[in-house]
Amino acid sequence: MRRHRKIKIVATLGPASSTREMIHALFMAGADVFRLNMSHGSHEDVAARHRAIREVEAEVRNPIGILADLQGPKLRVGEFGEGGEVLLEAGQAFRLDLDPAPGDRNRVQLPHREIFDALEPGASLLINDGKVRLKVLSCGADFADCTVTVGGVVSNRKGVNVPDVVLPLAALSEKDRRDLEFVCDLGVDWVALSFVQRPADIEEARRLVRGRAAVLAKIEKPAAVKAFDEILAVSDGIMVARGDLGVELPVQNVPPIQKRLVRKCRAAAKPVIVATQMLESMIESPVPTRAEVSDVATAIYEGADAVMLSAESAAGRYPKEAVATMDAVAREVESDPTYVQIIESSRSAERRTVADGIVAAAREIAETTHVKAIACFSESGTTALLTARERTRVPILALTSRESTARRLCLSWGVDPVVAEPVDRFKMAVVAAIREAVAQDYATPKDRIIVVAGVPFNTPGSTNILRVAPCEERLIFEGEPE
Ligand code: PGA
Ligand code: MN
Repeated sequence: MRRHRKIKIVATLGPASSTREMIHALFMAGADVFRLNMSHGSHEDVAARHRAIREVEAEVRNPIGILADLQGPKLRVGEFGEGGEVLLEAGQAFRLDLDPAPGDRNRVQLPHREIFDALEPGASLLINDGKVRLKVLSCGADFADCTVTVGGVVSNRKGVNVPDVVLPLAALSEKDRRDLEFVCDLGVDWVALSFVQRPADIEEARRLVRGRAAVLAKIEKPAAVKAFDEILAVSDGIMVARGDLGVELPVQNVPPIQKRLVRKCRAAAKPVIVATQMLESMIESPVPTRAEVSDVATAIYEGADAVMLSAESAAGRYPKEAVATMDAVAREVESDPTYVQIIESSRSAERRTVADGIVAAAREIAETTHVKAIACFSESGTTALLTARERTRVPILALTSRESTARRLCLSWGVDPVVAEPVDRFKMAVVAAIREAVAQDYATPKDRIIVVAGVPFNTPGSTNILRVAPCEERLIFEGEPE
């Protein structure tokens, strides 16, 4: 389905958006990928949402991407006695330990033995999204004596961030492993890993995924920012997870990191999602703030592959409006001449292969003449990703015979994936590309499109042909005997 927009929209599903009708409405409003958050809901809920998405996909006859987001090694405090919460005051002492007895004003359990080994005096502990802050004074194998530096309320099972220390935690908790196997069995297209610290975390997940899904690294730890190049090298995609990133680092560090990460992902031809609080006020309000609109626009001007909704679509009162807002902002920004200038001047790719040269040529031709689309045949999706890296002015139609490739490409900038019959001759590829381009309203028989393919077909990395094809060629070709 033609969207008239290059950047993609990821919408998280949740209690506000789990019916088939709502998922259909969100797709129609502009959602390209749905995110299943494994931190909430049972496997049954997840399976039901997955099924509903695939039903909508069949109904609209358009590939839809599904991203399962694993909770990751999220640390939480234990529970408090009566009332379930305490008020901590700046300057007071507070102890974390391994004792499961209900907590009080002086202490609470932190049920993660490994953390105590890694903590050092001076380390910060941030509770409840950084609202309450502790500093470690002294610590041992089963306790940490802290002083409260920023006071506030702490309640049962609130999350804890430890930004200063690379934690000796497995990348995937027991729950993550169960969830991962479950979602791979369901047939999700992307698996996202939370609180990634090192490239080995991604490599481990990849071994467990066994090719059943693409693997995306959420960058939300200072350690991951430091090791970003190595993490990017082993990941299929990246999420700039600004929520936890802004807890673990000073918030003002987030925008420059976002800019840097988006650039690096673009250069590497790997999709990057900018996530969290993009339209936060729309959880409660049918209209966004001007600042939120500007934040979405910034991600678009940066050339990110996708923008994401979290609670706005999962638990808010206006999921459809939130998706529609992103769609409207994207269309407006992308039709701004300044946008085209910014995107084209921020292009940076190291070109080494024939495929790199071919897609660059396709982009050049599209900038020089009036072609309506670039159609590429891509079984693995690589040629489509390389074409997307060029951030072309015209839409990219990615034809593939693999449903899994089409669905993964739903996350990539400017790519409209189409599941097509496999072809084994270039002539067939041209005919199929023209047929799709005309059928889906990208071109009329009077127009021209560019067709990019690799011969022999079905050999990954073989991209070596570019043709500028008038769409009426279809008539000639169809009358010809094979
Ligand atoms: P989350 O990740 O929503 O799973 O916490 C995104 C973020 O931290 O920004
Ligand atoms: Mn997070």
